[in-house]
Amino acid sequence: MARHPHRRYEVLDTFEPFSQVDDVFSRSRWDPAVHSDATERFYSTYRRPLTDWRAAPGFTQHDYALRNASWHVTDIFAEMYEAADRRDGFLDPLSMLRDGADDKLEPESPEIAAAQIKDVAKVFGADLVGITEHDERWIYTERYSSQTGTAKSNDLPAGLTSVIVIGQSMDPDLVRTAPSALSGTATGLGYSQDAAVLLGVAQYIRNLGYEAVPSMNDTALAIPFAIKAGLGEYARHGLVITPEFGARLRFGKIFTDLPLAHDQPKTFGVKEFCEECDRCAKACPAQAIPHEGPVPVALNRSGLKGVNKWSVDGEACFGYWSKINTDCAICVRICPWTRDYSKSWNRLWRRLAGTGLRSYLLKLDDRLGGGRRLKPNDWWAARRRPASVWARLSRSSN
Ligand code: SF4
Ligand code: SF4
Repeated sequence: MARHPHRRYEVLDTFEPFSQVDDVFSRSRWDPAVHSDATERFYSTYRRPLTDWRAAPGFTQHDYALRNASWHVTDIFAEMYEAADRRDGFLDPLSMLRDGADDKLEPESPEIAAAQIKDVAKVFGADLVGITEHDERWIYTERYSSQTGTAKSNDLPAGLTSVIVIGQSMDPDLVRTAPSALSGTATGLGYSQDAAVLLGVAQYIRNLGYEAVPSMNDTALAIPFAIKAGLGEYARHGLVITPEFGARLRFGKIFTDLPLAHDQPKTFGVKEFCEECDRCAKACPAQAIPHEGPVPVALNRSGLKGVNKWSVDGEACFGYWSKINTDCAICVRICPWTRDYSKSWNRLWRRLAGTGLRSYLLKLDDRLGGGRRLKPNDWWAARRRPASVWARLSRSSN
């Protein structure tokens, strides 16, 4: 088997494609090793705000009310066809699409078509767009059926040639309140915005006469496609760090047969930085992030076999989410690459982070308290202040 062209995420001869049945979220439904009363409660909090659990800031009814509202749009898609054993966006591709044109509009060239797709995606609200070739290795061997609790087929149309990877940045101030139900609002908004952009771009491609399958967590692994599409580099916390947003974003994808030019993977010093930094591993309350180097073995059945990479323990990570009744983004908040690159100092930091000055930068960032948590009550209080005060508060704490 050909190796992955990106040396930060090296595919070995022992590689085995992944089944979504083994994904930790699927296992939380069927596998007693992951499923528990805590996981049941975790999911139930997404349907009704907890009012009787904690009064801790960031975990109140007010926080859950906001978080759950942010998920509302994507929940509608996920629940629309549950009776037909579909969970659009999570276990099945988004399917709210019209038929496209019967005739194919020939693009002037794959390069022009790729540039147009990127423009359209950005007009529709995408923050990042990259395009890569279709790669069967990252397609799930099977989907998970929430109705039967077993596998079902993962059918895609024949002849797909490209994958458009779309990045949706998450709200920086909400992420800074992690861990909290309040910070989960950034996740829900990311998904809801992703769904709207993916559906719009997919419908545009269908209107040109081509296949387009919009996908969120379903159908395939997103991270290897995001790396191949040149959006960023793989990092110790198991996420992709992009030059524009660090790891503060979500990825969606569209599978298509529209002829498109492909982007190339890029490196800008993340691997070398992670080799000297283990801030995320130290900060992870579940000890799910490795302090050591990459390994080619799966830590448990939710891991990928035969890819030499930093491997995060999905069982431990999800166990912590269940314990706190919301998703956690401590590793995103704490990562020195998570910063506001609209500021010239942070753009300079990014440039220097890819050089031999990285250890100095890391020490400086530690000393300045980089990645510290924004108190959820301060996030709410800032909403009651005039905008200029909030802007000053944001500036001083970045
Ligand atoms: S916190 Fe440090 S080690 Fe972890 S992903 Fe970010 S740069 Fe890499
Ligand atoms: S999301 Fe939280 S629990 Fe999971 S790996 Fe990151 S820091 Fe650890």
